[in-house]
Amino acid sequence: MICIVGGGASGMMAGIAAARSGGKVLLLERNPRLGKKLLATGNGRCNFTNSEIRLENYHGQDPAFALGALRRFPPHKTLEFFASLGVVPVTEAAGRVFPASNQAGSIVDVLRWELEALGVQVRTEAQVQEIRRGREFTVVLADDEIKAEKVILATGGKAHPQSGSDGKGLELAKSLGHRIIAPRPALVQLQLGKVYPQLQGIKVHAEIQLLARRRQIASRKGEILFTNYGLSGLPALALSRQAGELLAQGEEPVLSLNFAPDFSEEDLLEALSLRQLNQPRRPLERFFAGWLPNKLGETLIRAAGLASTAPASSLTSQQRRSLGKLIKAWRFPVTGLLGWQQAQVTAGGVDVSQVDSTTMESKVVKNLYFAGEILDIDGDSGGYNLQWAWSSGFLAGSEAARKN
Ligand SMILES: Cc1cc2nc3c(=O)[nH]c(=O)nc-3n(C[C@H](O)[C@H](O)[C@H](O)COP(=O)(O)OP(=O)(O)OC[C@H]3O[C@@H](n4cnc5c(N)ncnc54)[C@H](O)[C@@H]3O)c2cc1C
Repeated sequence: MICIVGGGASGMMAGIAAARSGGKVLLLERNPRLGKKLLATGNGRCNFTNSEIRLENYHGQDPAFALGALRRFPPHKTLEFFASLGVVPVTEAAGRVFPASNQAGSIVDVLRWELEALGVQVRTEAQVQEIRRGREFTVVLADDEIKAEKVILATGGKAHPQSGSDGKGLELAKSLGHRIIAPRPALVQLQLGKVYPQLQGIKVHAEIQLLARRRQIASRKGEILFTNYGLSGLPALALSRQAGELLAQGEEPVLSLNFAPDFSEEDLLEALSLRQLNQPRRPLERFFAGWLPNKLGETLIRAAGLASTAPASSLTSQQRRSLGKLIKAWRFPVTGLLGWQQAQVTAGGVDVSQVDSTTMESKVVKNLYFAGEILDIDGDSGGYNLQWAWSSGFLAGSEAARKN
């Protein structure tokens, strides 16, 4: 019997793949229902894969490890798999794929129904406390002990513990002899050293750069959101992994915001001059009206040390230059990341050098397999993490059943 620990995306996929390959499967989930985290994905719409997957979208100590599973079960297989279960895919910007229903619940439903149709035994409210190995595995629950020939650990990492993945799986892996790369929150909001209460809730298109020792580490473009602790929005989330690494190394990362990424410095200065000419009597606090959100415009004027009531015509060329600099490089120290509750994924996890990338089987413990976020692989935002869960779950499930 194959015992799968964790009924999230990767565990459900592993269960289906194992059962389809003829395995007898028991799926254990600590929550009362399967797939709790899936319901929260893609703002409740579930961005379940991406049509343009590249290795650069994956991170960890050895991202190439992911290729074994991604090649065996690539995005087109994900689309075929879900289409056969009735899910109609809709591809949006940047290759993000959602179900046409726009309901994450429909992804959970079709997986649950398929598990049922395949006769997979599902036990909910079954939290695994311990796994002992002897000739077989003994999987220990609060009120029961289960014998299994194979175990697939699909418990997720530590991100979003309110959905059930509280890091217990990493402890189980460690107790079985696996090395764990220290887990860190990723795809999470950034805390900044300076916040402007008046900007809270403002969304704006910008390019943001992450700097360390004045060197650019990474940059992202898109809609950012100012908050009471710092910055949110996809570009901020995307830089959080590297910001977290820098903070862990004792560096002092800086975020540089560029509100005019498509303007050269010269073009920007010209645009500022033109605004002055067009509206010379407008007070500077309204200088950016119609270009940037009003509150952001006012805050930039004050941050540049300019009097908000002075007329636009009073701007000197020197002041125009410093304003231009601020618009293109408004800098904030990054002081931290929000925590596990807000994080979408876990960076770090089970060290992949101790796992066979072609089967997902442990190199340390025979008949032990891994799937999903518990492994030291994390993806960018955009459907890459769920694709990893499907690919690794499919591989672990198929291989565990094949070797029966
Ligand atoms: C808010 C949010 C939005 C997201 N949006 C997207 C998105 O749109 N697209 C995308 O690709 N990715 C998204 N992600 C990431 C994605 O959801 C995860 O990477 C993916 O769900 C990981 O799947 P998993 O099966 O490895 O782990 P999980 O989904 O975390 O599932 C693990 C399961 O194991 C159970 N479990 C844990 N320990 C035990 C135990 N000891 N005994 C029994 N059961 C246990 C848990 O209760 C849980 O149900 C999002 C994440 C969050 C938090």
